[in-house]
Amino acid sequence: MNPYLTADSDLSLLWNRCLATIETRIQRQSYITWFKPTRLIHLAPDQAVVQVSSHFFSDWLEEHYLELIKTTLYEQTGQTWVVAFSVSSDKPVPEPPLFSDAIQEQTSSPSVAVFHLNPRYTFDTFIVGDSNEFTYTAALAVAKSPGKTSFNPLVIHGGVGLGKTHLLQAIGHYCVHHTSAKNVVYVSSEKFVSDFIQSIKNKDTTDFVRTYRTADVLLVDDVQFFPQSESTQKEFFHTFNTLHQNGKQIVLSSDCPPNRLKGLEERLISRFQWGLVTGIEKPDLETRMAILKKKAENEGLYLEDAIARLIATQVDTNIRELEGILTHLLAQASLKNMPVTQELALSLLDHNFKPSQNRLTIDHIQRITARLFSISEDLLISKTRKQEVAVARQVAMYLCRKMTSSSLETIGLHFGGRDHSTVIHACQSVESKLLAEPSFAHRLHRLTQEVHTSSLS
Ligand code: ADP
Ligand code: MG
Repeated sequence: MNPYLTADSDLSLLWNRCLATIETRIQRQSYITWFKPTRLIHLAPDQAVVQVSSHFFSDWLEEHYLELIKTTLYEQTGQTWVVAFSVSSDKPVPEPPLFSDAIQEQTSSPSVAVFHLNPRYTFDTFIVGDSNEFTYTAALAVAKSPGKTSFNPLVIHGGVGLGKTHLLQAIGHYCVHHTSAKNVVYVSSEKFVSDFIQSIKNKDTTDFVRTYRTADVLLVDDVQFFPQSESTQKEFFHTFNTLHQNGKQIVLSSDCPPNRLKGLEERLISRFQWGLVTGIEKPDLETRMAILKKKAENEGLYLEDAIARLIATQVDTNIRELEGILTHLLAQASLKNMPVTQELALSLLDHNFKPSQNRLTIDHIQRITARLFSISEDLLISKTRKQEVAVARQVAMYLCRKMTSSSLETIGLHFGGRDHSTVIHACQSVESKLLAEPSFAHRLHRLTQEVHTSSLS
């Protein structure tokens, strides 16, 4: 019999020793990203099974670190093992890959089972900017006095990846750890519905009712997914009423404001508007940069402003995307064993955010403008304020604004790292010049045509 076959604790001791060795052999970043969230869950006579949180992880480990794992296991046990990976999304093993350091260790354990709250989604790890400040403040107020503010229910709406789930769960964590409202129930609307259907099937709704109607805090995520079914909506209606009457806190999230929710009964929608309805907007550039820097910092890495700006200008959809690109950037850096440089960030962005099919890119516009103004491209984006160059530069910025879908920030970045207000100013000057000087208008028209035709060739 193999001595390692036995208890979980033996497995974890063994794996900890392996990890300690592995940590000394690869970059810290790689270690944190790829190994910290793993666990050894099984040692059969010749097979070692490592648990990871997703297929992305198992693929990566298999491709890049299989030999390292095998060697280390051999050193620790004196045996050769076939290494296999098991993907599990159960807590607590699969801490989210990149930002594991951000996890707040739970100091006091809740007296009541909390419904699968992600330990990383706390107020501490939530970065506040103009786009979410009001909602954040409301969420914190609710978390501090659940059921006792007029924000009941609190409805948080906003597009995907903007932090709704994060805030809902942050409220949950806060209540469990800092208030007497310990019975926190977090569910997606789908889970609520499937629990309800299951209870009907079992012809016993006792458990269901006990779970949902005795909550101190009920957090229901993504209510836009509530089905039209009358019976589930009725059940939710009663749950809502019971909790509300008993002064319990209800928090809901949705991808749109309640009055735009489709397929929900009027009486539910009107209840959703009893308390506070608040939205989260897309984060602005500053907030996106702050988020990137903070998340990198959590990985023990300092991200230069220039690189954060580079990524944040190009990835302006949502925070989940930002996280994704940062994970890849850090993974690439550790894989190539190089620091996170602008070049690396650029190559990754090029790879992930391919410019549109046509050649109407900022570079192209710069090239043609420089040519028609008979100056070099370098001069075009330089700091010089010489009249003719400055005009050319403003014209080029104006055309980029009109002819590409790039944001003001991105355009500014391509013109020697100027900020968006410079681009706005350039567009305004060009527009007033256009009105005042017919010859200028004529020149601009020719330039526009040239940009167009040359982009087709
Ligand atoms: P939603 O539920 O609105 O689709 P999530 O709450 O799942 O979005 O957020 C997507 C990801 O972005 C999560 O990993 C979350 O932690 C992160 N995130 C969102 N907003 C912030 C923020 N303001 N600060 C830090 N991380 C954030
Ligand atoms: Mg969500």
